[in-house]
Amino acid sequence: MSRARVLVLNSALGPLDYRVPHGMTVEPGSIVVAPLGPRQLVGVVWEPERMPSDAEVGDNRLRNLIAVADAPPLRDPLRRLVEWTADYYLAAPAAVVRMALSSTAALEGQKLVVEYRATGHVPDRLTPQRAQALERIGDRQGLIRELATIADVSDGVIRGLVKAGAIEGVEVDIDSLYPLPDPDHAPPALSAEQAAAADALVADVAAHAFHPTLLDGVTGSGKTEVYFEAVAEAIRQGRQCLVLLPEIALTEPFLKRFHDRFGCEPVAWHSGLRSSQRRRAWRAIASGQAAVTVGARSALFLPYADLGLIVVDEAHETSFKQEDGVHYHARDVAVMRGKFEGCPVILASATPAIETRQQVALGNYAELRLPGRYGVAELPTIEAIDLLEQKPDRGRWLAPSLVKAIGETFERGEQSLLFLNRRGYAPLTLCRTCGHRFQCPNCTAWMVEHRLTRRLACHHCGHVEPVPRACPECGDEESLVACGPGVERIADEVAALFPEARVAVVTSDTIWSPAKAAEFVNRMEAGDIDIVVGTQLVTKGYHFPNLTLVGVVDADLGLEGGDLRAAERTFQQIRQVSGRAGRGEKPGHVYIQTHSPKAQVMQALVTGDAETFYAAETEARRDAGAPPFGRYAAIIVSSEDQPAAHEIARLIGRAAPEVEGMHVYGPAPAPLAMLRGRHRYRLLVHARRTLDVQDVIRGWLGALDWPAKVRVSVDVDPYSF
Ligand code: ADP
Ligand code: ZN
Repeated sequence: MSRARVLVLNSALGPLDYRVPHGMTVEPGSIVVAPLGPRQLVGVVWEPERMPSDAEVGDNRLRNLIAVADAPPLRDPLRRLVEWTADYYLAAPAAVVRMALSSTAALEGQKLVVEYRATGHVPDRLTPQRAQALERIGDRQGLIRELATIADVSDGVIRGLVKAGAIEGVEVDIDSLYPLPDPDHAPPALSAEQAAAADALVADVAAHAFHPTLLDGVTGSGKTEVYFEAVAEAIRQGRQCLVLLPEIALTEPFLKRFHDRFGCEPVAWHSGLRSSQRRRAWRAIASGQAAVTVGARSALFLPYADLGLIVVDEAHETSFKQEDGVHYHARDVAVMRGKFEGCPVILASATPAIETRQQVALGNYAELRLPGRYGVAELPTIEAIDLLEQKPDRGRWLAPSLVKAIGETFERGEQSLLFLNRRGYAPLTLCRTCGHRFQCPNCTAWMVEHRLTRRLACHHCGHVEPVPRACPECGDEESLVACGPGVERIADEVAALFPEARVAVVTSDTIWSPAKAAEFVNRMEAGDIDIVVGTQLVTKGYHFPNLTLVGVVDADLGLEGGDLRAAERTFQQIRQVSGRAGRGEKPGHVYIQTHSPKAQVMQALVTGDAETFYAAETEARRDAGAPPFGRYAAIIVSSEDQPAAHEIARLIGRAAPEVEGMHVYGPAPAPLAMLRGRHRYRLLVHARRTLDVQDVIRGWLGALDWPAKVRVSVDVDPYSF
């Protein structure tokens, strides 16, 4: 009799054993359907020796596997990646495997490539609902669920129409959907500097071996053109590529650029896909049909048939750190995937993370540099504006010299970008009479006023309320004041100063989909926007030749809070946003508003001396034993029941093992002491680099118990402190 160990997609459970019924064959990596209680769950077959089970079940009590999916088994490198990720980030293997199967894509077994569309046949019984459904669906094609959504009817109505012959299932011809990009479609003439870097990367791809490289080039140096040469080589070799982007908003411009270079679009993978698009993409990736995939961090766990190259663009970006579910850092996981697949990994950045530079210093990663902008474009001039000297008027936020520069830029018919990393109108609303401040009922956070939608919103849990007319505390109707600026308020200020200018606010509130991002890019390119006011969303990736002025409204914002990466992040963000200025033939100018122009990070930005800044930051980290010289892990204990959370946090604190080279701080209230209605306590583990912190934490927490209402999660290499 044959048994199989299966990782079912339920992260509360460990691996379970099943009987493989007569006539069914499975191997490690096979995607199967397994019974669990009354339910049927998808799972993946694993080597028993690599996935110990704590519930050995006798042969006679085993249940039969139900089916094997008509999809290729997860390959060995991906299974090793799942194990590594679960182990390193202290996550349930099932939760990691779920990312590989992308929940919907692999579930439906044989039906993977079937979609539905109208046949043109009118059913005998044409109820008003059926008529509505057929009218709204028109010639669209999709899953039953999607058609039901389009038609605003239940799934049952669509199924009824299938039975009545008015809608039919059709096989999707995956091959025709994913044409092979042409590596020689429109190759650029590379500069000598670019060609040298490209040659090295192409050689790595040809060598079919793990080889991480930092591609460190200033903004506008042509990093994308250079790594495209490596992508072209992988396509020539018949292998697949993955390009990771930090932000879904960057997908659309990337697709366009890829199309210009390779003559067709790559496969896009992000949270904005419809289920049918997701299934098609998953299928094409698993079969090897999809030559190039561009995606958000979740694309890292997809079952590529033959991965030949991984690129992480804007590799310094903190959005590569996943903060819910499995807490992983996509940059690190990308390097591990390259290691298991045996393929090169390119980390492209104009402002690499200190961790990445350290890997270069240690000789673990190669480095290629592009020190100058491509073509005639020069790096912009950068000037700090001392806000103590040049005070904006009361209730205004832009200093006179920045206002003057915006005016001149507008007069010349060029575009300006004002950067402030704060969504909404004002970060805090308070009552002048009684001092009441609007706080989120679920989080330790102020409610942020959004004038565009006339609401107060919590940026942590999404709670919204209408802006009240009177103070709920004292009833005063004229006492509410908005404190501080958000992008909407800056946009108002600009509109008042330059009534003729066309001003656009660009944040995740206005650009929530790739289509919205494309619309913004088109308007910028067509010259329909004079001044952009935006958050970090506009700091990277975009290339607008007519954008010549960048103003940083509050450069000190990111330095508050004492986070260990605050200076580094400020440097990266402002250098990135500065990099948007003067990318074409016209020179660019950058103004940085700050209260501390003498601070090291501001000096480094003005002089452009990144080396001195990085050296000083690296030394400071070394002295503090902070990453990459030491390591942290955060243990977060949360519950809706505050005393329970506190009690368990203290219990964990008391049980902390004495380990040489490790120190435990706390428990203390977490930086967000309440989040989505849960009270949070944190213990911070600080250890030397070489200590196997995961092993210590596994033993430590594994010996303890807590009630179900308390959740304990571990964030290894945390980013938010
Ligand atoms: P980075 O990613 O380093 O910021 P990009 O790859 O976006 O730089 O290049 C900046 C601009 O210069 C883009 O419009 C790009 O198409 C153009 N460019 C770069 N290198 C070349 C080249 N060799 N030939 C033509 N255009 C180039
Ligand atoms: Zn909230």
